Amino acid sequence: MNKKFISCEDLQGSVYFGPDALRHCCQRFFVKGKMQGDVEIFKVNSNDDLSVKKILDEKKKIIDNLNNKIPTACDGCPKLERKNWKKDIKINKMSIEIHSKCNARCSYCSEMYYGGLNPKYDFIKFYEELSDNKIFEEDVSITWGGGEPVLLKNFESLLKKISNFGSYPTHKDIRIYSNSFIYNDTLHKYLNEGKIILTTSVDAGTYETFKKVRGVKKGFKEVFKNLEKYSENPKAKVIIKYILTSGNHEKDEIDSFVKLIDEHKLSRCNFEISSDYKIEKLTLNSANNIIYFYNKLQNIKAKSVLLDDHVRKRIKDALLLDKKISEDKLLKLSSLNPDEKIIIWGTGGYAKATIKNSMILNDKRIAFFVDEKQFSKKNNDKFYNKEIKTPEDALNSDKRIFIASSTYWQVIHEKILGLGIDNQRIIKQLII
Ligand code: SF4
Ligand code: SF4
Repeated sequence: MNKKFISCEDLQGSVYFGPDALRHCCQRFFVKGKMQGDVEIFKVNSNDDLSVKKILDEKKKIIDNLNNKIPTACDGCPKLERKNWKKDIKINKMSIEIHSKCNARCSYCSEMYYGGLNPKYDFIKFYEELSDNKIFEEDVSITWGGGEPVLLKNFESLLKKISNFGSYPTHKDIRIYSNSFIYNDTLHKYLNEGKIILTTSVDAGTYETFKKVRGVKKGFKEVFKNLEKYSENPKAKVIIKYILTSGNHEKDEIDSFVKLIDEHKLSRCNFEISSDYKIEKLTLNSANNIIYFYNKLQNIKAKSVLLDDHVRKRIKDALLLDKKISEDKLLKLSSLNPDEKIIIWGTGGYAKATIKNSMILNDKRIAFFVDEKQFSKKNNDKFYNKEIKTPEDALNSDKRIFIASSTYWQVIHEKILGLGIDNQRIIKQLII
């Protein structure tokens, strides 16, 4: 019997907790030029409106409709896939966005995140109910954004309760998205203990641009100072993000940003270059500036630099606007030899987005993929027509490795080094 059906990772396993509604995802996509996504599960006014059954029923309803060609809010989403999804829905990702209070007004954000709402329900109480109902996979990822999380009145106690939740589910990781305008000592303590990962988007290299993009006058200098404090301890995992949007991606701005990063000793952090999700296409100028930005960060020996999947999906089309772009030029940029074959570590959405939007990663340059979870000799798993092998196979090879993950880049990198694989084999140059 064919068990394949249409669904997506988020329908199968995510819940986003807004202040007055639960959502399946935070995915945005364009259908006929109109932005869609952020699909709601149901509205919430109090804990009485929350029920495990309601969440499961709503998820199943969308999946059934998708598979019976009945219109849904997910129609046209690039995350939909027909494959052997598990029949049982188990939650493996929770995004805590339970309040919408923020001390910024970023140009790419909306009322949904800074509208000023407090949570209309007790999150921990419902988390316990979900746990009692055994709705989780063993290991769950927690992301916590907002609003600005540290502005929540009970941020400290909530963080403590979440990180000490118990043995089921365990937490794969807890990621806090803070703008770092305000220093928070609880957050700092948890960073020093290696219990959380902090992501802060900076988006400006000058005060003038900061005011324009972040929509406020205070915080520019503080962000750099706070990030310097937060990242002091080698155990601290800090990701500095830069969302390219209108007015913040010219070379002068990038130069000023990188200079500040260097001055505040922040090259010890990981970097993620992103783009405003509201912008459907990148221009050739912004694509070239992304390459410039990537190389500038490499030059100051940033721990890691990544293009996130918003950029991955858009950069190839933008670069193709340049009639002089060539495979040779991109090969030089990536440091790959024309006949070199590499190992790609990861077979998830990021790997797909990278390969689909690459001008150099093709059959002749991929040796094999590595994925611990999907690997099964019995099934003879393949991905893009290449074998999926084990981490040990990578250890026994001498080929260079491209880590195809944005969320788990650091985790995979540590794992690779822990296996005894030489750091020199990790490709840090830009592959497009
Ligand atoms: S299909 Fe797309 S829009 Fe629908 S839940 Fe999945 S990620 Fe969200
Ligand atoms: S800091 Fe985050 S929540 Fe606040 S306005 Fe900016 S993007 Fe929105």
